[in-house]
Amino acid sequence: MTDFKLWIDGRWQDAADGARRNIEDPATGKTIATVSEAGRADVDRAVQAAHNAFYDGRWSKLMPKERSLALFRLADLLANHAEQFARVESDNTGKPYEFVSIGADLPFAVDNLRFFSAAARDTHGYSAGEYLAGYTSIYRREPVGVVGQIAPWNYPLMMGIWKIGPALAAGCTVVLKPAPTTPLTSLMLAELIQEAGIPDGVVNVISGGNDTGQALVEHPLVRMVSLTGSTATGKKIMKTAADTLKRVHLELGGKAPFIVFDDADLEAAVGNASIMSTFNTGQDCTAATRFYVQRSQMNHAVEALVEAMRGIKVGSQYEDGVQMGPLISAVQRDRVAGFVERARASGAKVLTGGGVPAGREAGYYFEPTVIVDADQKSEIIQQEVFGPVLTVSPFDGDEDAVALGNDVSYGLAASLWTKDVGRAMRIAADLEFGTIWINDHIPLTSETPHGGFKQSGFGKDLSAEAVSDYKITKHVMVKNA
Ligand code: NAD
Repeated sequence: MTDFKLWIDGRWQDAADGARRNIEDPATGKTIATVSEAGRADVDRAVQAAHNAFYDGRWSKLMPKERSLALFRLADLLANHAEQFARVESDNTGKPYEFVSIGADLPFAVDNLRFFSAAARDTHGYSAGEYLAGYTSIYRREPVGVVGQIAPWNYPLMMGIWKIGPALAAGCTVVLKPAPTTPLTSLMLAELIQEAGIPDGVVNVISGGNDTGQALVEHPLVRMVSLTGSTATGKKIMKTAADTLKRVHLELGGKAPFIVFDDADLEAAVGNASIMSTFNTGQDCTAATRFYVQRSQMNHAVEALVEAMRGIKVGSQYEDGVQMGPLISAVQRDRVAGFVERARASGAKVLTGGGVPAGREAGYYFEPTVIVDADQKSEIIQQEVFGPVLTVSPFDGDEDAVALGNDVSYGLAASLWTKDVGRAMRIAADLEFGTIWINDHIPLTSETPHGGFKQSGFGKDLSAEAVSDYKITKHVMVKNA
């Protein structure tokens, strides 16, 4: 059992009111750690520390190469501690250990930090030119200031790094609030940040619930809020941020269509959809959730998908060959079950899954689930479930595929499957999503921007665009004569 306090101004501090929260292993429901729960007074202390660190220039006025070196040291430290971080992340989220250690989370988080280390040396920060006779205009791209960063529970460490990486590369200082259920690796990262030589006060990590997040968004010294979370939370934060006119950067929910044309490699598409709808137990904002297939291939696709989903190995973190762990909490399992029950009640058919797998009553497991005959306007097609649930529906022709794909309020990611390059390009242009994959689903790189259209939010995580989002332009005009 591990116990954590709040990381404020480079040291561990208790919550002012002494509040603490138990942290669970979702595979068993047992408590594995306790953490301090930050209240308003603690949020204020953390923001004040970040504010002081920003205005005395200990980070914001460092030369880019120094910020870059510190971020690079942090990446190396994380790589050296990868096994320890992977174990804690896996225990706190229920994800297969291999998936965290060598599959996705840890290797990608290290690569993200290395990318942001390089991005800190971007030379496009300043430019100058003449636009009025006798004057020179200089554009300075400056860090926005103190950023309040609020993370979700699906990739706790990686989401934290997608937040602090670009903010630090830009020269901002940060108060990071991880999700209430999964704060452990973000708190552990705080000590490595200090060891990497990033000055105290530049990154503060405070665990806490939604009220903690709310206090951070309200704080007048916070200049920008960056959230990865649900669309409902994004809307609340945007409203709250309006009172102090903060910038907001919102990475919200998704409902990715997976569109398979009749000329596609159906076997490859089905194999990919079964993995990408159950990846991270479907708790991924870009997960394949709506499988649309050209009508002539519908029966064949449904049969193959049901078989593939039944083959997904469900289990706990350290079981051999496990592909899918539990959902994050009892609340999330009941939420997913509720979506499936309501779909059934409204006339859709659950062809496989739809309940707790046999023998997995402890912990928060849910079966890989395939649903057909759901109405396009029904909740199961329109709303983000955030569980291992895939609907399958037929379409007729390109126009219908685009109309169905776009017919949700979300716009984060989509994939389309075809061998016809011209069709792929036309459809990619017409789909309203921040990322479109062709003949694949989910691959991400540190260099490429990730973010939503429509109610999936705005602003980009990853890529040079993310660093740019944490900067503000100042125009300095010099009279030459
Ligand atoms: P959530 O919205 O419930 O919580 C996200 C974070 O916001 C948590 O830290 C929470 O404490 C905080 N929060 C909640 N209410 C708040 C408020 N009023 N003010 C300030 N902070 C508040 O989301 P979740 O359930 O933790 O995560 C799942 C969601 O995240 C899904 O909708 C998923 O699609 C989304 N997500 C999006 C991306 C992306 O890149 N677009 C990536 C991962 C997850």
